[in-house]
Amino acid sequence: MRRQMKNERGRMAILGAGIMGSSLAITMARKGYAVSLFDKENEPLACASRWNEGKIHLGYLYGADPSMQTARHLISGGLCFGALVSELIETDLKAHTTSSDDLYLVHRDSVVDADTLRTTFERVDALLQSHPDAPSYLVDVSAARVKRLSKGELANINGSEKIVAAFQVPERSVNTRWIADRLCDAIRAEPNISLRMAAKVCATTPIDGVDGPWLVAVEGEKNETFDVVVNCLWEGRLAIDRTAGLEPVPGWSHRYRLCLFGRTKRSVDVPCAVVALGPFGDIKNYDGCNFYISWYPSGLLAETSALSIEMPKALDAAERHQFINDVRARITELVPAVSSMFDYAQELEVRGGFVFAQGRGSLSDPKATIHRRDQFGVNRLGGYISVDTGKYSTAPWLADRLAKQISGVD
Ligand SMILES: Cc1cc2nc3c(=O)[nH]c(=O)nc-3n(C[C@H](O)[C@H](O)[C@H](O)COP(=O)(O)OP(=O)(O)OC[C@H]3O[C@@H](n4cnc5c(N)ncnc54)[C@H](O)[C@@H]3O)c2cc1C
Repeated sequence: MRRQMKNERGRMAILGAGIMGSSLAITMARKGYAVSLFDKENEPLACASRWNEGKIHLGYLYGADPSMQTARHLISGGLCFGALVSELIETDLKAHTTSSDDLYLVHRDSVVDADTLRTTFERVDALLQSHPDAPSYLVDVSAARVKRLSKGELANINGSEKIVAAFQVPERSVNTRWIADRLCDAIRAEPNISLRMAAKVCATTPIDGVDGPWLVAVEGEKNETFDVVVNCLWEGRLAIDRTAGLEPVPGWSHRYRLCLFGRTKRSVDVPCAVVALGPFGDIKNYDGCNFYISWYPSGLLAETSALSIEMPKALDAAERHQFINDVRARITELVPAVSSMFDYAQELEVRGGFVFAQGRGSLSDPKATIHRRDQFGVNRLGGYISVDTGKYSTAPWLADRLAKQISGVD
């Protein structure tokens, strides 16, 4: 359904059509702003926001942050994710959300031991129990309570002595490919959005002081002027911030991760699990037929603390084959049921994306700053706004808050 054009309220450039830029563009367009949405790819949502696990974080994964700041920061975005995305795409997410709780399988080499993890999980439960939005999560988490699996329950899932304990927590994940397609439809339905694809942004500069209009420079095109520019470029963000005069805060890192996205010809019974806590793997079963599987050490193709990161060379056929076999072997050793996903796969895509983090170091180092992920959000320089999305799960919440700020509505 195409919406009627409202009054123009200012020309706005949004750089980057991932979940962050797209959520903001749809929201601002519906408020009557003329939005130009730029991306270097040919289609919106072609990068990390399409090819990720879709865990809608409640903070359990950040058990190596004893300050609990990461959990506190992630919870608000996670709790309202479902409602905000449903509004953007005008469709319910339920059929594309995992239907079982997540299992945290504690590896014997975990950077946090099982008892400490349990204490952290209980603290996350307490944060959720006292949060007013807890009933609005993908499932009601107002009575969240971590459960430790008995030895028998663990033996039913796990095929290796490497897993020493398991916890069940009420975290869910969404099928990000399905959401990406719906967001693309919503963008195309908005007459106030001008889609500027295959447009690589190379600079943003103020024309006459930071509060005046800003120029956006796109490779091979004429510069354009906007009243407000919002940088949602994820792995490309810091380089453009620097051209705008916004100096990045030291301590960031960029990574590129490959994973498997599978579809089976028949429904298979594979649990949703994350091997905790460190450089291990994840399994997400969205609906019995659509899966995400990762083994972190095999998929980590690039890592840098430089200002920007290059796209790693694509795998050739032999490397792709080896990657699939490696992920399969590592993950099925721990959760043998996953082999049915490979046996019945009619589609197995090797895809990946960049991860930006305001943190560094190896996941196997308990002291690494990468374990704390609460430093994300909005940075402003007059009419130029830079957004560190943080997580997929926090993007719609950040977009909603930013849209209210820009339009002056609370
Ligand atoms: C393997 C993997 C698993 C993950 N799992 C989870 C998870 O379970 N839960 C979770 O919450 N998060 C997860 N994440 C993180 C999540 O994917 C990101 O936080 C989120 O997608 C970032 O959204 P974004 O819109 O900021 O970035 P993107 O989706 O990457 O969008 C940025 C856009 O900017 C464009 N761009 C970049 N530079 C330029 C330029 N110079 N000019 C023009 N366009 C440019 C890109 O083409 C891209 O389309 C995962 C990430 C990866 C890679």
